[in-house]
Amino acid sequence: MANQELTEDSVATQFSAEDRRWMERALALARQGAEAGEVPVGAVVVRDGEAIGEGFNCPIGTHDPTAHAEICALRAAGRAIENYRLAGATLYVSLEPCAMCAGAIVHARIDRVVYAAMEPKAGAVASTQNFFEQPQLNYRVKAEGGLLNQEAGEQLRTFFKDRRRTKKAQV
Ligand SMILES: [Zn+2]
Repeated sequence: MANQELTEDSVATQFSAEDRRWMERALALARQGAEAGEVPVGAVVVRDGEAIGEGFNCPIGTHDPTAHAEICALRAAGRAIENYRLAGATLYVSLEPCAMCAGAIVHARIDRVVYAAMEPKAGAVASTQNFFEQPQLNYRVKAEGGLLNQEAGEQLRTFFKDRRRTKKAQV
């Protein structure tokens, strides 16, 4: 849980105003997911100061277990630049990536991943394992967490609280 103790002050110095702006975009995408009844997670792929792919978590609506925000954003970015390799790009995501998404991030050759909230149960970047630090990987992804983690955490908590309330009302 040590990572959740990051204070706003300690993360503020680590990230730029541009990082903050893109993470706000990821949070806005996550809200779109929540409105569609999906667990709110949003992601943006940015290269040369421009968003080249965006997505939000939508496995329920698409009947697709791989439709996590990161995968959706990577697919959109690959299509946009007509290249599956996204070297030089940064992926902003509102929740720590899982192992599937971390694998896809390596395949896409993303340079840097910035995430907001920690995912203690399935997060594969810092929480349950350090996916990007595996010695056999010949490619290094730089990962930094904690930017706007309070906002992202609040968004998830609100979503689950509302969902529990709806479920109770239906019984
Ligand atoms: Zn994932």
